[in-house]
Amino acid sequence: MTTVRQMFALQELDIILDRVQNDHRKAEHELNNGETIGNLEAQLERDSERLLETELKQRATKLEAESQKERSETLNSQLYGGEVTNPRDLESLEHEHSNVLKLVEEHEAALTEITQKIEDAQTKKNELESKLGEARAEWEVRQAQLQASLKELRVEREGFEGQRTKLTEVLDPVSLEHYEKLRKSKGGLAVARVQRGLCQGCRMSLPTHQQQRVRSGRQTVLCSSCGRMLFLS
Ligand SMILES: [Zn+2]
Repeated sequence: MTTVRQMFALQELDIILDRVQNDHRKAEHELNNGETIGNLEAQLERDSERLLETELKQRATKLEAESQKERSETLNSQLYGGEVTNPRDLESLEHEHSNVLKLVEEHEAALTEITQKIEDAQTKKNELESKLGEARAEWEVRQAQLQASLKELRVEREGFEGQRTKLTEVLDPVSLEHYEKLRKSKGGLAVARVQRGLCQGCRMSLPTHQQQRVRSGRQTVLCSSCGRMLFLS
């Protein structure tokens, strides 16, 4: 005959097994998702691309500034070389020269700004790279930890599963099925202890005659409120 004591023992095993399985799932999930590293790598890639674009812009601006400088020198020598004497030509030359000088100034200001941007981006990139290096080293340690704990959890699970099989072999199938159904429908608790006249599954007070039936231990008594099997330890 299956006793409620056996059911209670089975439930204790099942609770441990649930915990072991849950830990196993969590460890497996963490092992399969190196999120921090993935995020850092993606960020580093984006930042590197942006840096490269800024460097290209710097090169283009530099070239443009140089060509404007050359143009300004040519205009300068035309202005003061004495070859151009016509006042109207001189005036237009002067006008062009001042425009070109303005452009040179603008380009140089832009260059200073771009250079600062590149320096900042480079600093950020270096920081990110060192962070990534640290994260990779940490992840390696964590991975080893997780693998070791997965191994332990598997051994633990096998042990408890073995115990469970032994226990269920001596239980009658109808009681076992009842237990499984209750456990599924009652939030993992099929067997509830009775303490101070209360069902510990639903906290309802049990009628005296029900308590007596539980105490006698001759049959499985279900809580009249929640339907769980009652167990008096
Ligand atoms: Zn109850």
